[in-house]
Amino acid sequence: MKSKKKEFKNLIICVYNSDNMEFSYQTRKKDLQTLNGRYFDVIIVGGGIAGAGVASVLSANGLSVLLMDKGDFGSGTSSNSSKLIHGGIRYLGQGHVLLTRELLRERNYLMKNTDIVKGTDFDILIDEKSWKRSTIYLGLFLYNMMGHDYHLPKFKRGKYNYKGFKGYFTYMDAVTDDALLVLYNVITAKMLGAVAINYLEAKSFTEENGMVKIDMVDTLEGGNFSARAKVIVNATGPWIGELFSNYIGKKMENFKLSKGVHLILKADKFPYKNAIAFKSDIDGRQMFIIPRGDTVIAGTTDDFVTTPEEWSVKESEKQYILESVRRVFNNISEEDVVGSYSGIRPLYGKGDDPGRVTRDFHIEVSGKMVSVMGVKITNYRNASRKVAKQVGGLLGKRISTNELPQILYKRENGNDIETAVRNECALTVEDVIRRRVGYFYFKVDQGNSKIKEIEEAIGKIKNINNH
Ligand SMILES: Cc1cc2nc3c(=O)[nH]c(=O)nc-3n(C[C@H](O)[C@H](O)[C@H](O)COP(=O)(O)OP(=O)(O)OC[C@H]3O[C@@H](n4cnc5c(N)ncnc54)[C@H](O)[C@@H]3O)c2cc1C
Repeated sequence: MKSKKKEFKNLIICVYNSDNMEFSYQTRKKDLQTLNGRYFDVIIVGGGIAGAGVASVLSANGLSVLLMDKGDFGSGTSSNSSKLIHGGIRYLGQGHVLLTRELLRERNYLMKNTDIVKGTDFDILIDEKSWKRSTIYLGLFLYNMMGHDYHLPKFKRGKYNYKGFKGYFTYMDAVTDDALLVLYNVITAKMLGAVAINYLEAKSFTEENGMVKIDMVDTLEGGNFSARAKVIVNATGPWIGELFSNYIGKKMENFKLSKGVHLILKADKFPYKNAIAFKSDIDGRQMFIIPRGDTVIAGTTDDFVTTPEEWSVKESEKQYILESVRRVFNNISEEDVVGSYSGIRPLYGKGDDPGRVTRDFHIEVSGKMVSVMGVKITNYRNASRKVAKQVGGLLGKRISTNELPQILYKRENGNDIETAVRNECALTVEDVIRRRVGYFYFKVDQGNSKIKEIEEAIGKIKNINNH
């Protein structure tokens, strides 16, 4: 049975890698041309990690699926996270033991089953102002056990000289390129039969003969489209409330938005290869400094915002992170800042402290819409299975979630820019540098030296007329 599954997987990869499986500006154009008036079992609005995972599970079950995003796939919160695949040592401290165990299981699965989730050592720094040594020892003991890592935590002093700290423990978690993980899932869904279209925005909903008609707009080149579905999945992340009200006609309850900012810094002043977890001197919030090749990523903040459009990074947020980082590396200056980015978390729950609102996901079914919020990148597989089951309930169809969602796509060695444009549906320069090759986050020039090459690759694919 196992080898049959493997054969199936290999066959799909093999078929996809052949020339006839282009996923580009040209195939998107064809998909749009055949979209109008079309019927689907399910339309998924939102092509972040949540929507991509659900599309993959439903397509693997033989349902007809349209996955759409008003921007690029992953252009919402899913490309602007801390890029960790982790159990969340902080969640354990807050008593969310089951959530941490689930996240660790997922971390281990993803490390084993994709080439874009890699184990990384973290040093957690200890002094009297932050965590107690005994608490961290116990916490890490439990964390390691739940993650099937049977090393006993060891308190170390000497090797790395973290000034002002008594010492540190080292533990393992993982890092990823979040946007690429989304894309791998989008392409997997496509390989399994889904229609996946970026830059297509859901505008309005009408109930017609037991189905929902969605009116949509092409946000890249203009043009109106419509399609019908038996069930709608609302996977719009921070926009979840907007889409919900648009369809249901009333406000979504118990739902909040919290913004998190990261700085991208040059790596040269960070002497260690391990990532670092420590508490900010300013307000005691947990911070990370994560080496990512030429850059390190430092963050994050966690503050409530009122709309999903509050993405811009404020000077005060930048200074907060810089000042916090200086607690560990006091020679860091403004000149080391390469860039910054922010993401907005949709959180389900009450409370005045965003740091304490649960990071578990929440699913809500209203009419023919299944809404999902608070899906962590790490936990997208669990969330996708549960959403898919709810969709199955509305369709009256049994959904199998065994070993799903799987990742069937893998980028081959070659010219990444050409691959992005031809096989991964990158349509703009920003799509390439932020969500296909990661230059924006992981290179000091943030991809500026590649803009001409990217523009040429996009121009070439757009100008093919006889496709
Ligand atoms: C600062 C920060 C750091 C984080 N770090 C981590 C981490 O290290 N590890 C981890 O596991 N999790 C992390 N998370 C959590 C995780 O990133 C998010 O919970 C997750 O990305 C949410 O995914 P999503 O698919 O629900 O939403 P999104 O990724 O925001 O996707 C929603 C999509 O819906 C689209 N959309 C909206 N409206 C419409 C419409 N009308 N029509 C069509 N499309 C529409 C948007 O364009 C968007 O792409 C972090 C979150 C934040 C904010």
